[in-house]
Amino acid sequence: MTPIVRRHLFGPGPTNPYPEATEGLARPLLGHLDPAFIAIMDETCDRLREAWGTTNARTLPLSATGSAGMEAAFVNTVTPGDVVVVAVNGLFGQRMCEVARRCGAEVIPVEHRWGTPVDPERVVAAHPSPRVVAAVHAETSTGVRSDIAALGAAVHAAGDALLVVDAVTSIGGLELRADDWGIDVGYAGTQKCLGVAPGLAPFTINDRAFARRVERPQSWYLDLGLLGGYVGEAGAKGGGRTYHHTAPVAMISSLHAGLGRVLDEGLDNVWARHAAAGQALQDGLEAMGLELFAEKGSRLPDLTTVKVPDGVDSAAVRRTMLERYDIEIGAGVGEFAGSVWRIGLMGPNARPDAVTLVLGALAEVLAR
Ligand SMILES: *Cc1c(COP(=O)(O)O)cnc(C)c1O
Repeated sequence: MTPIVRRHLFGPGPTNPYPEATEGLARPLLGHLDPAFIAIMDETCDRLREAWGTTNARTLPLSATGSAGMEAAFVNTVTPGDVVVVAVNGLFGQRMCEVARRCGAEVIPVEHRWGTPVDPERVVAAHPSPRVVAAVHAETSTGVRSDIAALGAAVHAAGDALLVVDAVTSIGGLELRADDWGIDVGYAGTQKCLGVAPGLAPFTINDRAFARRVERPQSWYLDLGLLGGYVGEAGAKGGGRTYHHTAPVAMISSLHAGLGRVLDEGLDNVWARHAAAGQALQDGLEAMGLELFAEKGSRLPDLTTVKVPDGVDSAAVRRTMLERYDIEIGAGVGEFAGSVWRIGLMGPNARPDAVTLVLGALAEVLAR
């Protein structure tokens, strides 16, 4: 028998789940068309609207991880030849480019130095009339937060492009206001600040974007037109449910419970808790003489990037953290794979005791 191992998941995700989310997984399994489950699904969509800061009727958990949310965003909005401008300041911006290209888009990447936020002026200047402009709110690969409110204002002032936003590492952890910021299509994940296991992609699309969607996208599974019946037509609560695919019932129960926990605490309080934990971690790392990677003023609270000191074996430190302290932290990405660590304090881990634990362990391992 493989032993049961418990870890402190202080990397870029998944995070340790909220206990409520874990309990949600263990509820008696229901059929996916059972009225009792449909009530849970309806309430989950209501809770997701709150988490997104939207009134969009079409807000639902897609049955796959965050990257499927990315696929759904592009496959439903882009046809061959469409111009898509993507702000790239890390790995996930690069992934957006690749997904849009596979939809046949003419992709215009607007490259930013890794570790810096998206510059709305440069993004808007990249093309006079793109069909879609896309950006990542919280770049998990670099630990950078971009100003989506400013980007949304710039994009909508410049023309009628749809704004697609990746909120995988911001939802449930930092301020997110999809409607106020002009997000037309947004996707997220459950395993970062929402504090739920990986497996679902919270998704939202407004009426404007839905009206302009691709009629018969190449993906059947992620066709938002067909998914309307899966969660019930807009506004028709509990009615009009049709079989599209079998809902991952246990995961949705877990998300329902995790969102309940987050909303009970209050979004403002949850954001403040993540902000305080991130600041304490970053202050503590600097007090140890370490240097942070992301540009000051744009650092994510929930995912901190720190430079590996000269002469230190990055992978050996991570291995020792895991073996001695059961702490997982992340390596860097791309050219920074060996020169940066990524420390995430997300969901239930955004706490002062987690800060103390990871700082103490890192100090001991570095002293050895
Ligand atoms: C984790 C992550 C994704 C991908 O989500 P998966 O659940 O791994 O598919 C996309 N975007 C960002 C910003 C992420 O952090």
